[in-house]
Amino acid sequence: MSIHHHLSDSTLGAFTAGTLIETISLVVASHISVCPDCRKRKDQLETIGGIQLKIAEPEGLSSDALQKTMIRLGKQELPHVISPANTSSLSSSSGAALNVSNSEVPKPLRAYIPNHLEDVEWKPIAPGIKFFAIEDLKTANGTLSLLNIAPGVNIPEHGHHGIELTQVLKGSFSDEIGRFEVGDIADLDSDIKHQPIADTSDSCICLIATEAPLKFTSMLPRLVQYFSGI
Ligand SMILES: [Zn+2]
Repeated sequence: MSIHHHLSDSTLGAFTAGTLIETISLVVASHISVCPDCRKRKDQLETIGGIQLKIAEPEGLSSDALQKTMIRLGKQELPHVISPANTSSLSSSSGAALNVSNSEVPKPLRAYIPNHLEDVEWKPIAPGIKFFAIEDLKTANGTLSLLNIAPGVNIPEHGHHGIELTQVLKGSFSDEIGRFEVGDIADLDSDIKHQPIADTSDSCICLIATEAPLKFTSMLPRLVQYFSGI
């Protein structure tokens, strides 16, 4: 897998700091599981964060202070969150051979969708476009879904209210920014409007997380959005 589009510094920084919502965090973890470059940058950020924490740590604060606080609050275990620490078990040290299995689905996603993309229960939402909502991680504002786009079909132009992360799981697409292939991630903020189009050779399946519903720029896509909830 040759990856050309990576996570931005700000997204990786927020992931490392644990400030992203879960839907966005899952896509970050999914990309990191297949991208040695981003995993190395995440490790560097964690090292810097650890040094800063050490400097700022008050005298006498023990390493199990958080655990003790949770027990005091009546919670015996730390809450399960998708965090940078959890991603360490997602990868091996074998470089390019990362995440290799007979599944097209990156490891962090396998708890939420079938191991094989053809087993997903797709819902048609527009000619050439099928959709699957991953409800388990739906937050108050964010969404997490899979889009299955037929060869040559374009997604209507849209902008965003916040971060939109798109990871290609199968096939490829192109937009104003460039061409995105398997493993690539489009890390877009609210300033960017784009109109992705699936390449003509194969269907393109993407994992998409948004902080808020997309802003479509014409009426028909808005209607599709209304009925599909994306
Ligand atoms: Zn990357």
